[in-house]
Amino acid sequence: MKINDTFKKLAPSYLFAGIANKVAAYKRENPDKKVISLGIGDVTRPLIKPAVDALMKAAAEMGTAEGFRGYGPEQGYDFLRSSVAAYYAGRGVSLQADEIFISDGAKSDLGNFLDIFPRGMKALIPDPVYPAYVDGNIMSGNEIAYMNATPENGFLPMPSDVGERADVIYLCSPNNPTGAAYTFDELKEWVKYALEQGSLIIYDAAYERFIEEDDCPHTIFSVPGARGCAVEICSFSKMAGFTGLRCGWTVVPHELQGNAINAAWLRRQCVKFNGVPYIVQRAAEAVLTPAGLKAADENIEYYKNNARVIGKALDKAGIRYYGGKNSPYIWMECGMPSWDYFDKLLTKAQVVGTPGAGFGKNGEGFFRLTAFSDADSTAEAAARIAALK
Ligand code: PLP
Repeated sequence: MKINDTFKKLAPSYLFAGIANKVAAYKRENPDKKVISLGIGDVTRPLIKPAVDALMKAAAEMGTAEGFRGYGPEQGYDFLRSSVAAYYAGRGVSLQADEIFISDGAKSDLGNFLDIFPRGMKALIPDPVYPAYVDGNIMSGNEIAYMNATPENGFLPMPSDVGERADVIYLCSPNNPTGAAYTFDELKEWVKYALEQGSLIIYDAAYERFIEEDDCPHTIFSVPGARGCAVEICSFSKMAGFTGLRCGWTVVPHELQGNAINAAWLRRQCVKFNGVPYIVQRAAEAVLTPAGLKAADENIEYYKNNARVIGKALDKAGIRYYGGKNSPYIWMECGMPSWDYFDKLLTKAQVVGTPGAGFGKNGEGFFRLTAFSDADSTAEAAARIAALK
């Protein structure tokens, strides 16, 4: 039995495996050295109490004859879909509950959404960006066009940077890895362009909760017209530490192709997905309460403080960087090939980060640091980076 040819087109996934191997080898040879990682894109703060309480309550409920639940609705329980709708209403965006699909996280839906479109379609993807967009499209046998994200355009490619028309356009704001976030006016241009071209925007808002600047919308649906050209993919992972629990949501407006996209996605999910665990959806519901959001924001503030500490150290050392404001990522210029800088930082300062080249060709010469470590380690790592000659 042959495997799909498209899998042969995937580049080897050397980024995080390559980092882990290099770090393990260094630690083996230098057991006395304290290595600090600012490389991971995973959260480290414990789960917030409202989510833990809800998990325990729901687990206890499941252990009773009256409270037991088996298969749930594939698209999510009504209680969580309504809570997500209320969350959007709080941002001035009106959604119907059946436009919201509860998922086991953004990564699944970013790739799975391609199931409803023809193979071989054209996808427009920023470079650099979260690598799953590229690999998901390669697996699906799609054609990929890249749009350059560089210091010149503030790492935010615009329609004027695009050559040919694409069927789907991926936008990630706030962006992983650059930390750049689109303003309302910039998103307005994208919506206008997508409507003119008949393209679908797949908008990844996994980091929306980190946005602090008023002119950067938390959702693309703040922009008039977006309901006619965009789906939005969101996650509780970075918002509330659900990277291990797994829960997110995808908004698919009724207006898209006369509801055909919503109907196709519902059909796809009902065939290939059996829903997120009840107890996890109860925990997610708890995140969206006022007490839950307050606790989640305290953790986000903790990470953002780490970002500020890193930023200050880089400023002092005269190292140019981007991001760190509406995002947990700092995108620094490293002045050499990014894997060389990785080696230098590991061996001379015992700090681990992520080489920019792993996110696309435009990531060369850049290095990603994350704010997800603990405060003391972050401060120490930032000082070591700044002191490195
Ligand atoms: N989108 C972006 C831009 C990410 O950086 C990540 C994870 O790092 C994801 C999506 C995946 O999130 P989830 O944990 O919800 O699958």
